[in-house]
Amino acid sequence: MSAKVWYLYNSGFAVQTAQHFLIFDYYLDKPKDGGLAQGVINPSEIKDLDVVVFASHSHYDHFNPVIFEWRAQLPKVRYVLSDDIRTREDAVMVHQGNSYDLGDMSVRVFDSTDIGVAFLVKVDGLCIYHAGDLNWWHWEGETQQYNLDMAKKYQSQINQMAGEQIDLAFVPVDPRLEGSYLRGLDYLMRTVGAKTAVPMHFGEDYSAFTRLMADEQAADYADRVELLNHRGQCFEL
Ligand SMILES: [Zn+2]
Repeated sequence: MSAKVWYLYNSGFAVQTAQHFLIFDYYLDKPKDGGLAQGVINPSEIKDLDVVVFASHSHYDHFNPVIFEWRAQLPKVRYVLSDDIRTREDAVMVHQGNSYDLGDMSVRVFDSTDIGVAFLVKVDGLCIYHAGDLNWWHWEGETQQYNLDMAKKYQSQINQMAGEQIDLAFVPVDPRLEGSYLRGLDYLMRTVGAKTAVPMHFGEDYSAFTRLMADEQAADYADRVELLNHRGQCFEL
């Protein structure tokens, strides 16, 4: 039960498990001659692996159609896509509230509080959560009603995960939310928990990590948060 993880960009990650290579929310396909060490998927680098590509929704910073070009070098590649993505490509199109048995892995699909879905993937003895844009988007500039609805929607999705033993969780920690940047991760860690949590969707603002480490609210789980400081960063479970 081990895994190797690469931070690609934004909410993009690659996870190599015992038998599979999973790619989530691939977006920034530059530099063109890059590889995993630069946060870029170069299909020739993974051509001998059992590759499964996930995209949580159609927003340009979570879904790049370049993923379909990889088929030329990865004939057995599989795609698991939120059904808000419009494509005629051969893919498992998933819908919130459903579970999918892919034979060698299972995928539970949750609703997002933005658009699309969040994934809970069980593969090779690991349970991996990728939130997509499912987050507690509490904005100071929004109405009280908006923020109340948001809280309810977010909590109801996370509550449905209670009892799952998450090994690896990718969760938005977005500094644009200012004082509320930690709400989403905090609720997940207290309600479901995760052995390792990886913040994402922080843009170029790595100061979110310094802030989180010093944040009293995160004291109970800060030692389980993976600290990122550059694109292409790799760590092992
Ligand atoms: Zn997003």
